[in-house]
Amino acid sequence: MEKRTMIAVKDLVKQYGDFTAVKGISFEVFEGEIFGLLGPNGAGKSTTLEIIETLRQKTSGEVWVDGINLDENPEAIKKIIGVQLQSSGYYPGLNLVELIKMFAGLYNQQVDPKALLRLFNLEDKANARYKALSGGQKQRFSIATTLINKPKVIFLDEPTTGLDPQARRNLWDLIQQVRDQGTTVVITTHYMDEAEFLCDRCAIVDSGRVIAVDSPDALIDNLVASGFERKKEVKKANLEDVFIHLTGKDLREA
Ligand code: ADP
Repeated sequence: MEKRTMIAVKDLVKQYGDFTAVKGISFEVFEGEIFGLLGPNGAGKSTTLEIIETLRQKTSGEVWVDGINLDENPEAIKKIIGVQLQSSGYYPGLNLVELIKMFAGLYNQQVDPKALLRLFNLEDKANARYKALSGGQKQRFSIATTLINKPKVIFLDEPTTGLDPQARRNLWDLIQQVRDQGTTVVITTHYMDEAEFLCDRCAIVDSGRVIAVDSPDALIDNLVASGFERKKEVKKANLEDVFIHLTGKDLREA
């Protein structure tokens, strides 16, 4: 089946003064996939994401989201995307249900806050304030809020940074659920195990350029086909497997 393009980026350039942070990036994200932007710090991932999210001005190039040209109608793009807010956007006096109601009001959307919280295993926290949540709960809430305007695409910038292994795996499951319910997901991550597990396709970005785009399996197969071999024999488990085996998969959210 022909895949539908949800995001197209063509020859995107971003200059900060004399410095060119994004040097002519092109890629496509297909509808219904989890697409990863991978790369070292300073590669230009956040800049690229923020331009697509209409939060930053590009220097040149073209961007379409669901067929809408960024130059022609950024407001229409804003309506169909879900973006994680900075935690400073969560008014300290409001509990999770009240925050969801407030955002729903801003977006002019009917949302059942309890149902949304249930989807993200946060039902027990309905009456809690954001600052009383654990790291994993905060991330789950922040991803939940991206869905309030019923977007076609959500953007997650390093969604699992700072979480323990159980909370990371739980979040991976949730992100897959979001995709399986039809939302396209774009994430950035430094964790290659995360990208390998989660991403249907990814772009590897380095120094403002895309140097590879494919599924994780295809990227690995290409490397192996080029004659690459790991120095040591691959172990049948890693330390994270030991950790999860010993401490269990259950979320810890004291
Ligand atoms: P990444 O998300 O991959 O870590 P960024 O997009 O944040 O990369 O940054 C890419 C490059 O652009 C970095 O060298 C960064 O220092 C620079 N940069 C980012 N934002 C600004 C800005 N507002 N002004 C000047 N330089 C910036």
